[in-house]
Amino acid sequence: MKNWPISFHVAGIAVLTGFSLVLLTAVPSKSDANLPYEPQTLPLPELKVSEIIEDTLNTHTTAETEPAEGWTEKSVTIKRNDSLSSALERIGVGASIGFQIGKTDNHQLLTNLKVGDQLTVWVDSNNQLQRIVYAKSPILEVELASTDEGFKIQEIQKDVEIRTHTAHGKIEGAFYLAAERAGLSAKSIMQLADMLAWDVDFARELHDGDYFRVIYEARYLDGEYIGDGDILAAQITTAGGQEIHNAFVMRNGQEVIGYYNEKGQNLKKAFLKAPLDTVRITSRFNPKRVHPIFGDKRPHRGVDYGAPTGTPIKVTGNGQVTYRGWMGGYGNVVKVRHNNGYETLYAHMSRFGKYKKGQMVKQGEVIGYVGSTGNSTGAHLHYEFHINGQHRDPLKIKFPDAGPIAAQYRNDFLRRSHFLLGQLERLDPKTQLAYQFE
Ligand SMILES: [Zn+2]
Repeated sequence: MKNWPISFHVAGIAVLTGFSLVLLTAVPSKSDANLPYEPQTLPLPELKVSEIIEDTLNTHTTAETEPAEGWTEKSVTIKRNDSLSSALERIGVGASIGFQIGKTDNHQLLTNLKVGDQLTVWVDSNNQLQRIVYAKSPILEVELASTDEGFKIQEIQKDVEIRTHTAHGKIEGAFYLAAERAGLSAKSIMQLADMLAWDVDFARELHDGDYFRVIYEARYLDGEYIGDGDILAAQITTAGGQEIHNAFVMRNGQEVIGYYNEKGQNLKKAFLKAPLDTVRITSRFNPKRVHPIFGDKRPHRGVDYGAPTGTPIKVTGNGQVTYRGWMGGYGNVVKVRHNNGYETLYAHMSRFGKYKKGQMVKQGEVIGYVGSTGNSTGAHLHYEFHINGQHRDPLKIKFPDAGPIAAQYRNDFLRRSHFLLGQLERLDPKTQLAYQFE
């Protein structure tokens, strides 16, 4: 194992404003003449320990009580039609206790139980209820404690340790296998493919000799790995290492807002490449096409996607539904108006989604289902893309980026992404090992 000059390690859940990474020491980035941008244009950030402490929110609260000598521990599982009282009664704790608990502050934490939930209950030698622990998740427990002032109910957030891991590898054969060999979980591989989907065609563009480098978070509880968190930064090449694609996370608190490249450009586009998940093009945009039903020359001013009746149709960009109804040969149609003079149209639907005329829709939401209504030779989606009223080929136009980083976060993003880029470049693409920094 190499002795890396950085340490990525933090206890607790890091809750950062705008963007998150815990960096203890920064070292100058090695220059790389092959990069299509200039990493040296930004000064390396001076990172102080105080920043890290400020960025770390301690959500842990301690237990009110600990099991004492002479207590008996019991376990009860919530059954259908159970109340807290009936469940406690089953293990010999008096029915009036449930009533008392119902009058305690925060009682809903313990009374909104689901079938299958498990409670651990402690009673003292007089069979008096002393403590209940309800584990809502591996990291969140509800505790009821008997105190001098009566029952007390609180949530106990366990300390989750976020460790920053890295993985990198060279692609030989399938990307998925190379990523797996490098130690990435299925979740992280999907996340990686998803965030870079606009820049990289994972099925066609990756070849042997291309490489990837990833910095991601992993979550630990009491020293045990419980799963991957967010990807913080990733780099992947195409064209045998000639083209480099970078992605850096932008977060607000713990919520991922998006991934952006080293220039702060959104990796997501304002439009999806296609309105269906599985894409089978049956007819392309063609101004000189002979019509399949009428046999005469009629331009085909959209793209047809073959798909079974009932396949969900996703709106390709954020916008407002401006038409929903029958439109002659187009059958059931939904039209959506987007920003900047863009408009999309979806035809031959078997039925509509839940969005009505005038409603706002977000990219990816289901606005209808594939069908064969109107003049149609079989189940398919006819998809049109208009810019300022002109029909355009959705397979050829260059889609605009989704919104850039808000101005007030931009400098912070550039500073952090520049640092991450330096860390990515230190990962050796020639080996298949996944390193874990301690
Ligand atoms: Zn068509």
